[in-house]
Amino acid sequence: MLPTGLVAHERYFWHDPGRGAGFSTSSIYVQPDRHPEDPDTKRRLLALLEVSGQVDHLLRIPPRPATMDEILCFHTPRYIEHVRALSAGVGGEAGDSATVGHGSYEIALLSAGGCLAAGEAVLSGRARNAYALVRPPGHHAEADSGRGYCLFGNAVILVKQARQKHGAARVAVVDWDVHHGNGTESAFIDDPSVLTISVHQDHNYPVDAGSLDVNGTGAGRGANINIPLPAGSGQGAYLATFERVVVPALLRFRPDLIVIASGLDAAIIDPIGRMLCTSETYRLMTRLVMQAADEVCGGRIVATHEGGYSNAYVPFCGLAVIEELSGRRSPVIDPYLAEFEMMAGHALLPHQEAVIRAAAELVARVPPGAG
Ligand SMILES: [Zn+2]
Repeated sequence: MLPTGLVAHERYFWHDPGRGAGFSTSSIYVQPDRHPEDPDTKRRLLALLEVSGQVDHLLRIPPRPATMDEILCFHTPRYIEHVRALSAGVGGEAGDSATVGHGSYEIALLSAGGCLAAGEAVLSGRARNAYALVRPPGHHAEADSGRGYCLFGNAVILVKQARQKHGAARVAVVDWDVHHGNGTESAFIDDPSVLTISVHQDHNYPVDAGSLDVNGTGAGRGANINIPLPAGSGQGAYLATFERVVVPALLRFRPDLIVIASGLDAAIIDPIGRMLCTSETYRLMTRLVMQAADEVCGGRIVATHEGGYSNAYVPFCGLAVIEELSGRRSPVIDPYLAEFEMMAGHALLPHQEAVIRAAAELVARVPPGAG
């Protein structure tokens, strides 16, 4: 069987978003702190892959910088130049909560290019699937602005290049980051060849985005599904969402490639999400997407790392996803899982079920694929 690819690079951890508390404020009473989008969460995931030996069973895919043409397939020249100029100097804001540090431009190019390299490995048949452990993240970035810690739209650029250069006519994006994938939605809102699905916490970030009734426009009607789960949703709600909405939508759409925007911030102890997922939830969600991928697109999945802000727990959630993708369990037992599973809130509750039932009605509107 083909290996699972892994893109990771020390340089990703050198993007410096600053030492604010994560929200723009001019108050002199906010003590400088570790930024939520801190490199350590991702570095610790890579460390766990290494010490567990899991990395030895993965195909390491070297990242490359995205070219200007590739970035231009989504972003405006003016925005790209704005990021470059900030990065060449002392840095600054490239949009709402999107900090550029000195040198961040080159790292953001490598982040988008790392996702492209992962896509190339999967679409050329060198890897069965791949995980791009990149940084900065991308799913909030819009064509002309950064947003929510994101500079360039990694998943958007991957999807567009997969379609333009690698013969993936139809691509689906499953975004399980706890925040709404507004940037990805905006890129493909009127495109019937790209199905975008975002499973997120209702009215978290961006607070005014991600409602059920945003379902695609024009030719893309039906090809965007938002599932805004209520705060406090756990494994019951997430698995019901995947079984009743995400998987049926994928099977109906029949993409040639599935991209997972893999935010690990729906986890139970994430500082900026209010959901209750465990590593087991991520494992089971991965398994469900893989089953759909096996059925419609030869198992081709590329996961792009997005959010996830718990230093303690991101490594175990990420390991579970990568173990599942690779079909190999490492010797690691999630040391938090038993306690988290004893806590209340994992069962599907009626107010969560109502949202899932409404979202399930949208599956019939997804543009059906052939075959
Ligand atoms: Zn997020």
